[in-house]
Amino acid sequence: MEKIIKLGISRCLLGENVRFDGGHKLDRFLTDTLGQYVEYVSVCPEVECGLGVPRESMHLEGDPDSPRLMTTRTKQDMTDRLVQWARKRVSELEKEDLCGFIFKSDSPSSGMERIKVYNERGMSVKKGVGVFARIFMDHFPLLPVEDEGRLHDPKLRENFIERIFTLKRWRQVLAKKESRGNVVDFHMRHKLLILSHSPKHYQMMGKLVAKAKALSLRELYQQYQTHLMESLGLKTTPKKNVNVLQHMVGYFREQLSSDEEQELLEVIDHYRGGYVPLIVPVTLINHYVRKYDQLYLKEQIYLNPQPLELQLRNHV
Ligand code: SF4
Repeated sequence: MEKIIKLGISRCLLGENVRFDGGHKLDRFLTDTLGQYVEYVSVCPEVECGLGVPRESMHLEGDPDSPRLMTTRTKQDMTDRLVQWARKRVSELEKEDLCGFIFKSDSPSSGMERIKVYNERGMSVKKGVGVFARIFMDHFPLLPVEDEGRLHDPKLRENFIERIFTLKRWRQVLAKKESRGNVVDFHMRHKLLILSHSPKHYQMMGKLVAKAKALSLRELYQQYQTHLMESLGLKTTPKKNVNVLQHMVGYFREQLSSDEEQELLEVIDHYRGGYVPLIVPVTLINHYVRKYDQLYLKEQIYLNPQPLELQLRNHV
């Protein structure tokens, strides 16, 4: 598959020796597995703003909502230097058409959440955001972001990957000539995926698409994109997935034999009970989609969300 999805990433996660101590934080899942499907744009805030390798370590200090970035031993304040560089860097990154960013956890520059912020007595609270990460997230509020630590959790991993792949497909729609038909077509294929994240957004977006003719193209695209990214930001749960699976059974009621229906409902029940992963009912439904040539379901991204090799649904 062509590497068409561009993701920003904290450079040390790719194995480059850019950390304060001259080391790296190579993450093999990101380089060897996800790396087969994406092209990384790496960013090391501390090196790119002119600090060398090795360098004095830093941490956040002061007000957790707007902390200062200080060197730990000599107490130099690096905040302004990093902020100035970061503002320029995020504008440059606009040209890259990124579909997301993977940050290094626990870093006072690159960490996206729960970063230690120290007070004058040397006590810390895990409430900060890294200086570059904050500026990046403010600049690209709808872009999916994660850190490598959270991506070790299969559910968070599946959610993140689903979002970046969906954003890429949406960007492909944006690259075409604007038309209501293109939005409607995208929506039709993503309906069940959206339902698996948020029944509320599924309803809202259904209404939005239904009144597409009453909106200007610009309004339609903007509102749809906002709802899309918001909906995928909400996590799927077994309960929401069961709702989608049952919804799909409804499309087959006429065609399935009573044995087949019974088997399918049992498999869904096993998933609900946590005895089998989501891939099991999804595979069975895909089998019936082919057997009965179910055209609507055949088109659903939910049933074939992203490269099989990532095995995302084997764990959720
Ligand atoms: S955490 Fe960020 S600033 Fe630190 S080495 Fe990695 S990329 Fe550079």
